[in-house]
Amino acid sequence: MSTVRLSRVTKRYQRGREIVTAVDAVSLELGRESMTALVGPSGSGKTTLLNLIVGGETPDEGTVEGVSARPDWARLAIVPQTLGLLPELTMTENVGLPLRLGATAGGDVAEVMELLGLGSLGERPPEQTSLGEQQRAAVARALITAPALLIADEPTSHQDEANTGRVIDALAALAGAGSCVFLATHDRRVLDRCDPVVHILDGAITDEPRLRR
Ligand code: ADP
Ligand code: MG
Repeated sequence: MSTVRLSRVTKRYQRGREIVTAVDAVSLELGRESMTALVGPSGSGKTTLLNLIVGGETPDEGTVEGVSARPDWARLAIVPQTLGLLPELTMTENVGLPLRLGATAGGDVAEVMELLGLGSLGERPPEQTSLGEQQRAAVARALITAPALLIADEPTSHQDEANTGRVIDALAALAGAGSCVFLATHDRRVLDRCDPVVHILDGAITDEPRLRR
């Protein structure tokens, strides 16, 4: 059984007088115990597609079914491109926030932080850490509930080589334990660890990567 099923999902935005089709009749199934990459140039519709899956946007046409259809925060976690850490909380408190909001723990906060190289930063507020560290805290916050579905928008965009390895290892371990991981990425090191790889261009899924028209 698939975790998420999109059937001919279309999303359009009005921009001035122009209508932009950000996501164009996308059909896609994501299964459990898998890590799927979503690859495409900037502006190709990756973030819009992820937002449609997590219910942050409503499709103009088509349907989204599965775990995310009615967002169930016990089973769904997100690593947004903008990270969304709360500045008034420490790094540890940010990572543990889903548990304080009532989600069931899928791991230990200190252990997950250690795994992502955040072991010594727990007491600091996010603003006293690097952007890369903040991004890894957002990944840790998503992992802490061991969600059935984890959606991540370019989760290694601020990481160096070693930390990219840490992030991708942690996400792969979640997928290996039965979850469904779907991530937008430009990063070759991440792509090499994902199967399948889905290509998007001008809002549409393409079989083969091809150059923009
Ligand atoms: P990506 O994440 O691949 O860079 P996006 O999903 O952010 O692409 O954007 C896809 C297209 O939709 C782009 O042309 C973008 O300008 C447009 N778009 C995205 N969000 C909005 C919005 N809220 N209003 C108008 N246009 C938008
Ligand atoms: Mg994007």
